[in-house]
Amino acid sequence: IGTLDALTLQPPDPLLSVIGAFRADPRPGKIDVGVGVFRTEAGETPVFRSMKAAEAVLLETQRTKAYLGPEGDIGFFEALRPVVFGAADPGARVFGLQTPGGTGALRLAAELIALARPGARVFLGTPTWPNHPPILKKTGLQQIPYRHFDPQTQAVCADQVFEALDSAQAGDVALLQVCCHNPTGADFNLEQWREIARILGRRGVLPLLDLAYQGLAEGLEADAAGVRIVLEQVPAALIAYSCDKNFGLYRERTGALFGVAATGEAARIAHSNVLALARAAWSMPPDHGAAAARIILEDPALAADWRAELAEMRDRIVSMRELLGMIDPAFAPLARQHGMFSTLPLSPDQVRRLREEFAIYMPNSGRINVAGLTRGNVEAFVRAVRSVM
Ligand code: PMP
Repeated sequence: IGTLDALTLQPPDPLLSVIGAFRADPRPGKIDVGVGVFRTEAGETPVFRSMKAAEAVLLETQRTKAYLGPEGDIGFFEALRPVVFGAADPGARVFGLQTPGGTGALRLAAELIALARPGARVFLGTPTWPNHPPILKKTGLQQIPYRHFDPQTQAVCADQVFEALDSAQAGDVALLQVCCHNPTGADFNLEQWREIARILGRRGVLPLLDLAYQGLAEGLEADAAGVRIVLEQVPAALIAYSCDKNFGLYRERTGALFGVAATGEAARIAHSNVLALARAAWSMPPDHGAAAARIILEDPALAADWRAELAEMRDRIVSMRELLGMIDPAFAPLARQHGMFSTLPLSPDQVRRLREEFAIYMPNSGRINVAGLTRGNVEAFVRAVRSVM
């Protein structure tokens, strides 16, 4: 019997089947709120203007594609650093590297934690991005799930979050999404972040902050507030950063892992470990997306255009959320949420009826991407959802 014969069939990603079924549906007016990418009013996921311009510069100026090191494009890392930390930059206590997307950063962060503390406990609010649990599992970390979201109020259940985190012990980890929570859109407000930061500091918990949508909630600065508030209260933290949404880079797999250590010496040691882990995982990250993002960030005019494009995306998301609430007050709580995702309190059977009777596509979890809606179809969407509820 061959080595690989021991494998068993794995279920496909549930979103892939939603995407496939949507494509195959011939009905005009069909609505895809399943796929997790930004869409314009015209239903497109365009390359940013600033990105096209940066790519043109890159094409013109790049003289070699010789290897970079496992840290990737250091200029990219350094240019992104002030976007994340702002005035709260911890200086020589910062370490990190470019990674293949936010996923690569999360995986590397989990491996670093597992290396330092095999089997460490990770407190994880649920529901969460479906890739969080398998990443933690692959690295042998132990998951302590707690309730993050109340589907009735469509908001964070802060007291349950505080209580869960307050039961953590020194050496535990808390994986927290900083903004535009996937899949609920329910973010912590500043007061809640302050309380979380105090608890993490008091309990000696290492925050693992997932920042995959900076700029898509309220703005680049406001969206980093959670990071900066937490850093006031803890000596060390890990931040898994994705540029795939806020630079529209998706398939270019662009991200970074930022670490903050208690001392400069601890940062140097941690840095040598993430480099070794990266070498064993992917040797070095893909260059193109990070190089182009660096060109944007280092050029004031391109950076200004990038910020304007982010503001346009944000405005469209906010106006769709407001429209949902204006059409039907039952959707009003969605206007208080951030980012592309919300989770509607729908059963798998209701999701099936939306698909079969109304050609509306979403995964069984009831997660919707509000950027899949347009001024032209949002009313039909609301009516259909209400009719199956
Ligand atoms: N964290 C969250 C919460 C996400 O939603 C995503 C992407 N969907 C990621 C991390 C990873 O992003 P990337 O595509 O850059 O790997």
